[in-house]
Amino acid sequence: MPELPEVETVRRGLASSVLGQAITAVEATGRRSVRRHVDPSELGVAVTGRVIVRADRLGKYLLLGLDDETTVVVHLRMSGQLLIAASADAARRAHTHVVLDLHDGRQLRFVDPRTFGEVFAVAPGTPRSSIGGLGSLGPDALAVDRRAFATAVRRRRLGLKMLIMDQRIVAGVGNIYSDEILHRARLRWDRPGSDISAVAAGRLHEALVTVLEEAIEHRGSSLADEQYVDVDGRPGAFQHLHRVHARAGQSCHRCGRPIERAKVGGRSTYFCRRCQV
Ligand SMILES: [Zn+2]
Repeated sequence: MPELPEVETVRRGLASSVLGQAITAVEATGRRSVRRHVDPSELGVAVTGRVIVRADRLGKYLLLGLDDETTVVVHLRMSGQLLIAASADAARRAHTHVVLDLHDGRQLRFVDPRTFGEVFAVAPGTPRSSIGGLGSLGPDALAVDRRAFATAVRRRRLGLKMLIMDQRIVAGVGNIYSDEILHRARLRWDRPGSDISAVAAGRLHEALVTVLEEAIEHRGSSLADEQYVDVDGRPGAFQHLHRVHARAGQSCHRCGRPIERAKVGGRSTYFCRRCQV
């Protein structure tokens, strides 16, 4: 599932190639992808003729700003991809659910085999607090204040992994990067937030920012069973630099002990028993 580094890589791809482009037509064939609209045609009505002027991101949400202050929100969820096609004739991938025609002949295509992802337009002036999912988001993980983060984590009894994956506390971290961040911070996934010192919380914040920035530098992680690619269809490379995630049984780069896996709520958590306390 794409997390902050993957979404940021997509955002950068959009920022460098579609700003200034007018949207000339919209095809929304995947009803589930545009489920926030009562009628799929509403998306086209809201964005056709408008120019893309900004490509922003908040947590795992992509926010394309248009020239009339409409925002096109894209969430990739499990398997969504946002691809730039060179022309309308370029071969379409299966599960292409939404297509935006751009003024220069290219297309922005939303592909999503598992259909958990979504694309929707938000009218100018709509307060963020009223938009489901976006309204409850905490600060972006790359912008969260260190003190505020430490306080939020240390106030709660939940395990650290659950806490840093809670989008209300910090937006952008999911299953992969929570493992990597906790290993970097030398903290166990199930250690209660209320149990860690201010120094450890500071270390956790530093690991949060460092891991996410490194992952962005390597254009995100593409796992064997997942779907993440950038706007040009290229996979990321950070998976080769994972220290714990999906490395059960392989040796910890820090201490040499085998990485362990714990199953929590149907998801795998990877950690080093010796390095993380
Ligand atoms: Zn270790």
